[in-house]
Amino acid sequence: MKIGFIGLGNMGGPMAANLLKAGHGVSGFDLVQASLDALVKAGGSAAGSVAAAVAEADIVVTMLPAGPHVRRVYTGEGGVLGAAKPGALLIDSSTIDVETARAVSRAAGERGFDMLDAPVSGGVGGAAAGTLTFMVGGSEAGFARAQPVLQAMGKTIVHAGPAGNGQAAKICNNMILGVSMIAVSEGFALAQKLGLDWQKLFDISSKSSGQCWSMTSYCPVPGPVPTSPANRDYQAGFTTEMMLKDLKLAQQAAQAVGAATPMGAEAAQLYQMLANSGFGAKDFSVIFKLLHQTT
Ligand code: NAD
Repeated sequence: MKIGFIGLGNMGGPMAANLLKAGHGVSGFDLVQASLDALVKAGGSAAGSVAAAVAEADIVVTMLPAGPHVRRVYTGEGGVLGAAKPGALLIDSSTIDVETARAVSRAAGERGFDMLDAPVSGGVGGAAAGTLTFMVGGSEAGFARAQPVLQAMGKTIVHAGPAGNGQAAKICNNMILGVSMIAVSEGFALAQKLGLDWQKLFDISSKSSGQCWSMTSYCPVPGPVPTSPANRDYQAGFTTEMMLKDLKLAQQAAQAVGAATPMGAEAAQLYQMLANSGFGAKDFSVIFKLLHQTT
């Protein structure tokens, strides 16, 4: 299949490389020359613009920083909607706000294109290994057509419903994650003040009702889970800045539909404080340090 790939950064670069490995042809575009060079090295071809990258493509994949970039790349001058060939399937894998995802999908539909929002979890490691989880919003037919491409880049691929529901799934999941990481961090900070050994709390709580992924796979204190970022000075992983971005998207979505998310709102404020304290590039589990100092 011929694929046009826009946005060849930390995630898009390795994702495009996996498409090439699976035997697809990839014509890519990015604003950064080094990313284009990496694509060529991996066997793809570098295009001079968005329009040139997508002109011959059966499927277009975009992996861009945020909503405004996605809007511009699809609906702006020389954008995907004006340049893709009729019948091309459009897949945006960026993490963006639900409203923009639905608006761009609508604009694509008006031009006769089927479009999916397909944000991912799994990070740069998952992108390189081809083990990403895709949460997909859009039509059943589009979801079926996307399979060969998504399977080349990911392992778990879930259809979450109509347009925007992939983004909705992503921000709901990450809001749960952000809140649960704070809860686990508070528990471990309190344990220490009470003279309870972290390993003991882990042994008990990981088998009790406080058990969750933030504890058993990503424990924010050094020791109990040897692979967690806490054991390597909170080297990311998933950065504080990325968590903050997703929590802000969740708050934006909650306000738009009038949902009460008090813990999500509090989590957004705490991660903002963490970013302001110079921890933006550290793994988000470094929130433990903030709570440990103040409890
Ligand atoms: P990145 O900044 O490394 O890559 C984005 C790329 O888009 C850059 O190379 C940039 O030059 C390019 N770009 C921006 N505007 C463009 C335009 N108009 N035309 C062409 N290229 C353009 O970011 P990333 O880490 O690869 O993340 C991409 C998306 O994936 C984000 O929405 C992010 O939230 C999401 N995400 C990232 C991770 C992660 O661990 N990095 C995990 C899950 C989801």
